[in-house]
Amino acid sequence: MGVNITTPGPSCHSSHCLNSSSSLSFFTTPTMEKANVMEAKDGTLAVASAFTGYQEAVQDRDHKFLSKAVEEAYKGVECGDGGPFGAVVVHNDEIVVSCHNMVLRDTDPTAHAEVTAIREACKKMNQIELSDCEIYTSCEPCPMCFGAIHLSRIKRLVYGAKAEAAIAIGFDDFIADALRGTGFYQKSHLEIKKADGNEAVIAEQVFEKTKAKFTMY
Ligand SMILES: [Zn+2]
Repeated sequence: MGVNITTPGPSCHSSHCLNSSSSLSFFTTPTMEKANVMEAKDGTLAVASAFTGYQEAVQDRDHKFLSKAVEEAYKGVECGDGGPFGAVVVHNDEIVVSCHNMVLRDTDPTAHAEVTAIREACKKMNQIELSDCEIYTSCEPCPMCFGAIHLSRIKRLVYGAKAEAAIAIGFDDFIADALRGTGFYQKSHLEIKKADGNEAVIAEQVFEKTKAKFTMY
């Protein structure tokens, strides 16, 4: 996804990909009932459970990590690093890495937020698979990123904005091909959750709010 930053934001001194060792305390649920994965009308998957309390806890936890991914999406544009996309890898309720799109900064069309996050998380954890990790992405992952998520064996994906929100401001509609149409996700043992309600709105606003800060080529 190539973009030209026309109005770079304030200087960004922080690392493109923050390794977090802070102990974020997110509450865990005492009853970790296995959630059912259900297919929604739009073809995406949602998590369902018979236990309302469990679902609320999952929702609250997901909201916190997804908010971080959305924050990264804004940061990437402000820093002039790339497009408005963020990704966070979580292990045992703690953020391992929090990254954003680095396509411009690295002059690398593959430096999407998810790929960058997976690379950094593997490096940090010194392992080539992340089967005990989850990934939170501000937007529905493109096929390349979904492939990376699959190959890293990440167990769970939660995303905020649907691909159409990015496509609406000019990003390649290639994005929408990862979770739909290919049937690829069905072969991966991965729980996929699309955020809904306010969480989704916040994630989708990223594109409208950043579109003036860069132009597509
Ligand atoms: Zn991607």
